[in-house]
Amino acid sequence: MAMNVKPVPHLDEEVNEIRLATAEIVNEEILPVEEKLWGYSFDGSRVSKEAVREGVELRRQIQHKVKERKLWAPHLPPEFGGMGLSFLQHAYMNEVLAYSPGAASLFGVVAPNSGNQKILVKYGSPDQHRKWLIPLTEGRMQSGFSMTEPHNAGSDPRSIQTRAELDGDEWVINGHKWFTSNGHAADFFIVMCRTADPDDPGGVNDKMTQIIVPKNTPGVNVIRGVPVWGKASSHCEIKYENVRVPKENQLGRTGTGHRAAQDRLGAGRVYHCMNSVGSMWRTFDLMVERITTRVVHGGEKLEEKQFMQGFIADSYMDIQASRLMVVDCANKMESGVDPRTDISAIKIFVPAAYHRVVDRAIQVFGAKGVSGDLPLAGFYTGARTLRIADGPDEVHRILIAKNILRRYHAGETWDFGN
Ligand SMILES: Cc1cc2nc3c(=O)[nH]c(=O)nc-3n(C[C@H](O)[C@H](O)[C@H](O)COP(=O)(O)OP(=O)(O)OC[C@H]3O[C@@H](n4cnc5c(N)ncnc54)[C@H](O)[C@@H]3O)c2cc1C
Repeated sequence: MAMNVKPVPHLDEEVNEIRLATAEIVNEEILPVEEKLWGYSFDGSRVSKEAVREGVELRRQIQHKVKERKLWAPHLPPEFGGMGLSFLQHAYMNEVLAYSPGAASLFGVVAPNSGNQKILVKYGSPDQHRKWLIPLTEGRMQSGFSMTEPHNAGSDPRSIQTRAELDGDEWVINGHKWFTSNGHAADFFIVMCRTADPDDPGGVNDKMTQIIVPKNTPGVNVIRGVPVWGKASSHCEIKYENVRVPKENQLGRTGTGHRAAQDRLGAGRVYHCMNSVGSMWRTFDLMVERITTRVVHGGEKLEEKQFMQGFIADSYMDIQASRLMVVDCANKMESGVDPRTDISAIKIFVPAAYHRVVDRAIQVFGAKGVSGDLPLAGFYTGARTLRIADGPDEVHRILIAKNILRRYHAGETWDFGN
């Protein structure tokens, strides 16, 4: 089934053109070959080399077409080979390309490389651009972002214990990280390090620095890929043991690591939520199609059953509410209004809505819903994971309440129109 994307009347021509061109690639190039793209075997048997080769070749062909249509790397400025989209344009593109799982990589957006690229664009020196950013954007290098630690709360980045100490003109890094995504393939990591103690002078958010660490530096020990949802993964546990890198490998000024992480996560959360909208859109299409065709007890189609009609209505509301919240948040980010309350709100609401929508679709499909023949099982675990990654729900709830209470304590009330 093709994704139904038409021009949105209130959007400007450029955004509509981007959405339509993206949908054309998704519908004509990606969906017809989706099962072959990743060389997967869903039946548990080994994947043949031929299937893997075919997947690689198909991906290469699609990426070529994406570049021809000038839809490559929406997150990057033109000087680094990207589309130079505004924040809102990129968000609107994501809801379309996320219709097919994994399609983002065919448009040049692959986490965590994409987040690292953005941080390198903003905080990197010209020399770092040449050495790390350009090879990353050209696909000659892979990267990881190494912040979370097994023995400290990832939900509170200020708890990080990995230390970097200056010895002459070198940083010496010691620490233990895990869930560094893409760790197996990465050529370098951006490592979040403590460069000042909590009681040293300076603000509480000025004690961390992000440092580029090539994986082949002595002392970088990738212990394992941590299994996720029962499967091997590339989310790696890494020990950094007396790792020495030149001082010029630090990103930005010493102490700006926390700020850089917030920059990365804030925008990233909006993009992730718009991706979730795209995945919900696909789920909805699959579910409704099934409801209109499956015949059950009494010779009736599922669509005659009110339980099923309820699933359609509830899912419609979940998707529409999510989409409008994310678009509103993206609008605020673009217009310079403080978006923090809304970012936290979408970070909680959208993954939960996504989870509900996929849960209903799985129920509608019965056994097929949990099978590997549909993207639903992947969407389901993905939606659940999103409630933890990039800050767990509870932390964002606390942030929303704090922001609102602060305003009421200041004698104001909340203005929902702005
Ligand atoms: C698939 C996946 C990929 C990831 N990729 C990366 C990556 O590439 N790089 C990286 O650095 N990290 C990555 N992470 C880690 C992720 O960012 C952390 O898991 C997340 O920030 C939560 O940290 P934690 O796991 O240490 O949980 P904790 O901080 O221990 O929190 C656990 C639970 O405690 C509760 N909680 C925490 N704080 C509060 C509070 N203040 N009030 C009430 N309840 C609270 C919440 O329910 C929370 O879920 C990834 C995680 C996953 C699952």
